[in-house]
Amino acid sequence: MSDPWYADGLEFACTQCGKCCTGSPGFVWVNDAEIAAIAEFRGEPLEEVVGLYTRREAPRRSLKEKANNDCIFWDREGGCTIYPVRPRQCRTWPFWESNTTTPEDWKRTAEECPGCNQGDLISVEEITRRVKVVRV
Ligand code: SF4
Ligand code: SF4
Repeated sequence: MSDPWYADGLEFACTQCGKCCTGSPGFVWVNDAEIAAIAEFRGEPLEEVVGLYTRREAPRRSLKEKANNDCIFWDREGGCTIYPVRPRQCRTWPFWESNTTTPEDWKRTAEECPGCNQGDLISVEEITRRVKVVRV
């Protein structure tokens, strides 16, 4: 198989701007293990976490959003309130298949996310690993 177009790696360093956690409506998929980790981190019963912070989007489950479309766990002052246990989708952003397949995809992503094309050089191996974690 030929090397991906980002064979030399891509630069990325999150600026903590919060754009990917706020704004337009969307989905943050969570599986059972991720919900359990959030419950443990918050010290809250599993059923409560499922009911208060997640919504069914058959056949999966997504985090809920606030009325203004911010992620339910986004705090305007403090940022992500579950950062150590944030779901895989959040951990691997912006290295999703949909954002990295072509240079044009990456350019579009960089227009949304100011952390792209600056900061640490992420190797092709690490990008490929992250792309495989979740297919979005
Ligand atoms: S949009 Fe990019 S820079 Fe802003 S918080 Fe999200 S990952 Fe970080
Ligand atoms: S869980 Fe945290 S990182 Fe993920 S969208 Fe919500 S606030 Fe952002």
